Amino acid sequence: MAAPPPQTAPRPVPLPAIHASHAGSWVRDPNGATRGVAKGEAVMAAADTPHLLINAPLVATRLGYPDLSGLDLLELFAFIHPARFCVPTAKGLAHALDLAEPEDGADVPEFLQMAAGVLLARCEQADWPEREGAWSALQSLARLRWPWAQVIAPHIAKPEKAEKWLFSRLPEWEEAAERPQPAQVTLSEDAIHGQLDRLTGTGAEKRDGQRSYAGAVGSIFAPREKRAKPHVLLAEAGTGIGKTLGYLAPASLWAQEAQGTVWVSTFTKNLQRQLRAESKRAWPERRSDGSPPVVVRKGRENYLCLLNLEDALQGGFGGRAAILAQLVARWAAYTRDGDMIGGDLPGWLGTLFRQRAIRSLTDQRGECIYAGCPHYRKCFIERAARASAQADLVIANHALVMVNAARGRDHAQRPTRIVFDEGHHIFDAADSTFAAALTGQEAIELRRWIVGPERGSKGRRRGLAARLADVASYDEAGGEAIDAACEAAAALPTEGWLGRIAENAPSGEIETLLAAVRAITYARDESGALGAGYGIETEAAGLGGPFIEHAQTAAQALSQIRVPLIKLGMRLEAMLEDPPDWLDGQGRARIEGARFSLVWRIDTLAAWEALLLRLGGPADGDFVDWLAVDRNEAREFDIGLHRRFLDPMKPFAHTVLDGAHGVMLTSATLTDRAPEGRDWPTAIARSGAPHIEVQPQIAEADSPFDYANNAEVLIVTDVKKGDLAGLAGAYARIIEESEGGVLGLFTAIRRMRAVHGRIADRLARVGLPLYAQHVDPIDTGTLVDIFRDEPRASLLGTDALRDGVDVPGESLRCVVMEQVPWPKPSILHRARRAAGGGSAYDDSIIRGRLAQAFGRLIRSRDDKGHFIVLSPAFPSRLLSAFPAGVPVTRLTLDEALQRVAAGVSCTQAEHEKDTPV
Ligand code: SF4
Repeated sequence: MAAPPPQTAPRPVPLPAIHASHAGSWVRDPNGATRGVAKGEAVMAAADTPHLLINAPLVATRLGYPDLSGLDLLELFAFIHPARFCVPTAKGLAHALDLAEPEDGADVPEFLQMAAGVLLARCEQADWPEREGAWSALQSLARLRWPWAQVIAPHIAKPEKAEKWLFSRLPEWEEAAERPQPAQVTLSEDAIHGQLDRLTGTGAEKRDGQRSYAGAVGSIFAPREKRAKPHVLLAEAGTGIGKTLGYLAPASLWAQEAQGTVWVSTFTKNLQRQLRAESKRAWPERRSDGSPPVVVRKGRENYLCLLNLEDALQGGFGGRAAILAQLVARWAAYTRDGDMIGGDLPGWLGTLFRQRAIRSLTDQRGECIYAGCPHYRKCFIERAARASAQADLVIANHALVMVNAARGRDHAQRPTRIVFDEGHHIFDAADSTFAAALTGQEAIELRRWIVGPERGSKGRRRGLAARLADVASYDEAGGEAIDAACEAAAALPTEGWLGRIAENAPSGEIETLLAAVRAITYARDESGALGAGYGIETEAAGLGGPFIEHAQTAAQALSQIRVPLIKLGMRLEAMLEDPPDWLDGQGRARIEGARFSLVWRIDTLAAWEALLLRLGGPADGDFVDWLAVDRNEAREFDIGLHRRFLDPMKPFAHTVLDGAHGVMLTSATLTDRAPEGRDWPTAIARSGAPHIEVQPQIAEADSPFDYANNAEVLIVTDVKKGDLAGLAGAYARIIEESEGGVLGLFTAIRRMRAVHGRIADRLARVGLPLYAQHVDPIDTGTLVDIFRDEPRASLLGTDALRDGVDVPGESLRCVVMEQVPWPKPSILHRARRAAGGGSAYDDSIIRGRLAQAFGRLIRSRDDKGHFIVLSPAFPSRLLSAFPAGVPVTRLTLDEALQRVAAGVSCTQAEHEKDTPV
């Protein structure tokens, strides 16, 4: 929603202001002029008096002074306009407030005074949309000594009627009857095309690729012929064919005719946003009964837990985190759906305060007490779950769809018609979903879930005994099972476990096992990661007798926890079957919730035991097991044993596919572009369909973009591997030549940091801001928002940026890869490589990565750009990753810079005169 224009002319706020970038630092007196100052002077000024600034952590990084604080305009924005979007830069704030952008860094302090004035003036407007609750929140924030409280107070009038407390203002969700099973309908091609025409609008150009794609998608909605044999379609759809409407057309038609629910699963938040927007063409915002036909559904750990928030507001959080809780409470009253991670809570809010505090306001650990919670009827998670059961379209992510299919609470809510967009990520999503990891961090979480928090910890967390106190007092056997589980949980690690293990003084069976894991991993590692400060690992093979004994003892200890949990589950089930008089509907829902959480824990324990009991036995070809010590910059943060399926599509097929009626996997890069052509057999094998003996249908629709004339691949041959200065210099010169708009992709964070450190100041001095993941204290989504918003900015990053960035137009003109993206030589990779054809397997992974990275460059018909790889030894067999016809040239850096300066304008014939590959 655009902010309303101010009614009275706002005046700049007479407070000192500060700004710092890689190009310099500036301070401005309350009523005076702006001065460029040295970093030291800027730090002294800010330490002396609170200054207006924007994005304090970023300014602090630029000044090299981590303790910097002040009057951050972003905090003010979050208070005045909760749940509104704002890119966290001066330019972004200018857009959000409809003000002129500051031209350069020196103009920012003056702009901040004006922007503060505009925001404060908003508080005085009669039509300020977010007024409700502001006065009460401000009183609490003043008690917490929020620096803005005194500044805002004179601008917010005390309301005549007392404001309602958040928890009574939020609406309650309504219970609705279960949807009947969908009707069996067959969609005709004509009907699908008619629906597509309606969605694209009259007068829209008819695109053949999109029409044939939509027709093919219709086949997955046909009635199923055999049990556990869904229709499966693999559809590769080039960028720009209009894939989203191509599948929303048959999906909306089927939902309407069959009265059923279609799930569209994505990997990126960006596509979810796009889908939400595009779905408006097919569905209204609300049905006549007020229910939403389109629902975005995420894992429960994404949503605000109102009980956790209440606890935080009532003293559970202290210091800055308590201020954050107040700002989150402001947001909770205005949010669309309560999604804190990627929803309408600004991604930068966690960075301004503490990301961990944001996470602890969600239900991370499955401690929900369901109907036992006073906010149950207003709970965002429960609301989303209920809305999705009634929806025509559920927009979800791969992990949630898999978790829901594997251990969904409610059978009726399991997805049966599923479109997996960004389908090339399914393998990795399945890999994490069906993994088992017995690590210290996981085990300590389980202990807390059973026993409750350790002494001295704040917050509302309770153990099983407290959560099920009424069950324990009513049912003796249930109470005994809880006691037995708590007693057995003493075998699990407690606070300080890493320190004890490092000192060789582990406590309990699991810590003892983890100490043995650590010792053996250090003893065997020869990866070179030890010296570099990275994590180390070793395969779970050839383990000696003493290690196996520790593993067996640990497995027994785990089983002693699991058995009483199973007993408790049975007692809860018995209570539901033969309910006591006092068990009302809410109590019943709470017990059902507890049973659901128990099953999840029991499954985890069983998976851990299986992992341990197999050590020392014959190898099971279905799994890859290894031991690992996770480290970051040489600091250990977790230790454990890991198990992955060699082919995670096997459990995917048995949990997701065979319960479904129709499934499509679609992506622009579903198949490997091998030199011989698209490799469909491998794509079919990786779909999981062969595991349930289903032969998938195949569809292809090529991109309508003119890649051959709009893009060039330049392989730079004179930047030597390992020459960091040369690499940094190459990045700087490319960014200068293209005047920003560069997305730089790295395979190692360390190298990326080093390059950023060497060139950021130099580029900033010529007005070319450079941002970087893992360097700037900004979350990845926000970094992409900043990059999209500033055509002269460039962005450096790693894997997450390779295919999570959708920046059409001017802002992205050039993608630079520092080297060939080889897979990390891990134990898991080694096993899959051996099973997948050796170097051919590696090549297909690299081509996939190159195709995804190239895909960032041309997002619309008018996009043009260069794709540069800084690699003297780029193998020719990988070139088929790029779209057919795109000119590829090997050349020196100087020659590449000339190409960048000239823009993509060469014709095919001109390229053919150049050195061909
Ligand atoms: S029902 Fe559960 S998740 Fe929802 S607010 Fe209550 S405790 Fe939190």
